[in-house]
Amino acid sequence: MKPKVSVQMASRVKSLPPYLFAAIDKMKQEAKAKGVDLIDMSIGDPDIPTPNHVVDAMKIAVEKPEHHRYPSYEGMLSFRQSVADWYDSRFHVALDPADEVLSLIGSKEGIGHLPLAFVEPGDTVLVPSPGYPVYPVSTLFAGGESFIMPLKEETNFLPDLGAIPESVLKKAKLMFINYPNNPTSAVAPAGFFEKVIEFAEKYNFIVCHDAAYSEIYFDGEKPQSFMEVDGAKSAGIEFHSLSKTYNMTGWRIGFAVGNRDVLAGLGKIKSNLDSGIFQAVQEAGIVALQTGDEILSGIRNTYQERRDVLYEGLKNIGFELRKPKASFYIWAKVPAGFDSSGFAAHMLEKAGVLATPGNGFGAPGEGYIRFALTVPAERIREAVERIKKVL
Ligand SMILES: *Cc1c(COP(=O)(O)O)cnc(C)c1O
Repeated sequence: MKPKVSVQMASRVKSLPPYLFAAIDKMKQEAKAKGVDLIDMSIGDPDIPTPNHVVDAMKIAVEKPEHHRYPSYEGMLSFRQSVADWYDSRFHVALDPADEVLSLIGSKEGIGHLPLAFVEPGDTVLVPSPGYPVYPVSTLFAGGESFIMPLKEETNFLPDLGAIPESVLKKAKLMFINYPNNPTSAVAPAGFFEKVIEFAEKYNFIVCHDAAYSEIYFDGEKPQSFMEVDGAKSAGIEFHSLSKTYNMTGWRIGFAVGNRDVLAGLGKIKSNLDSGIFQAVQEAGIVALQTGDEILSGIRNTYQERRDVLYEGLKNIGFELRKPKASFYIWAKVPAGFDSSGFAAHMLEKAGVLATPGNGFGAPGEGYIRFALTVPAERIREAVERIKKVL
């Protein structure tokens, strides 16, 4: 007998947390196979198409032969300049496009690679939970250890910085934070970023603020950028994405801004692994970043109407929840007698409504469920009617 290759996953893959959505996914497929009219509010992926003017810009850009070659890893200067212009007009923050802006193949890519540049095996990374799963996973891939900062309702879903042991703070290399927050939809109040910077300076760790939802806000209340705060540029970086703002999740374009040494470290990792964003996408990205407020307020109004329908609807049938000021999520407590997964399964089986169990975003999310406002208002009304019948 010839010996056979035995495929063994590396320990970093084996130690990935169990895929909590697998069971739900299976039930979703089963429901679909049975012909259930499923209302799927589990995905944080806009159902609204990319604005026409961006698609049109892409059509023109894709024909240019100069875009058919390798792009530069740090991104076209013209794209980085348009990011700097956008920051200036939106946040009144000045950025040098040469080295204070780095283009990313979606912000997930940047978040995933960042710890490789700054985290040694055994180092600590401060990670909010519930939260975007990439923060602890990228930490794990770099050999680091996540210290979980629970986001609790009592503290308005902000990490309690004072509760982090001094010994942990001293070992911390990075801190991830994310406002407007996925999944809780919390926004950072005035003064929060200042406090974070104070801790970063005292204990010498890098702050990575994920601002993917800064433009999905309601009632005219614009969320702040981390970069607006004194000291931010020396304390860290901010991740942004065109995905949520311009309904461009499939295009894969985002960026990071701020501390030039941190960006250089991330750029070093990237230049050894990827070859940048298709330049035609960058040209379309420039056009996207120049999108007028008319289109953006249209998008915000659509989400705001959906938020109102779902918030009022769930409240009227007895759910405990907060009215989001930003993001396109509603984070609600599951009814008494259920845990997160049990309630998600119950809604799916009995009502044909799918939402994400809160514990899928980390253990502190247990007891909650996340609804994404990525289906039309009519369907949300229908979902509330159906949920009401199975409570
Ligand atoms: C969607 C999302 C991202 C990443 O989006 P990209 O498409 O990779 O730019 C980053 N952070 C959070 C919290 C998100 O929800």
